[in-house]
Amino acid sequence: MAVNCIFCKIIKGDIPSMKLFESEKTLAFLDINPLSYGHALIIPKHHGAKLTDIPAEHLTELLPVASRIASALGSENYNILQNNGRLAHQEVDHVHFHLIPKPNEQEGLGIGWPQQ
Ligand code: 5GP
Repeated sequence: MAVNCIFCKIIKGDIPSMKLFESEKTLAFLDINPLSYGHALIIPKHHGAKLTDIPAEHLTELLPVASRIASALGSENYNILQNNGRLAHQEVDHVHFHLIPKPNEQEGLGIGWPQQ
């Protein structure tokens, strides 16, 4: 845990969040500023700014959890991305994976995600 880390405060419950999944090592919650319906963040509870700061055993659940959340949302089209470092647009210095579902064009879900 890092005292001034927003995501560590979310893990502790000091900052509220819409939790989607929680286990001993992993937390998933909705992004406060979503790029599309269901935009979620999946994070290791182990604090570290960069991917190389996180021991491998704390990373193993992240992608399976992301794909399970996508399935639960009924989404087969989505992006999973991890911004690593300032030049890669990382703003929160606690490793996180974004799950950004692609809006279903038939149902018109989602906001602000570019059409292809
Ligand atoms: P980054 O640019 O670091 O990859 O993305 C950080 C993400 O964290 C952003 O999408 C931002 O909306 C999200 N975020 C920042 N602060 C909070 C917060 O307090 N609660 C939640 N749920 N998301 C946050």
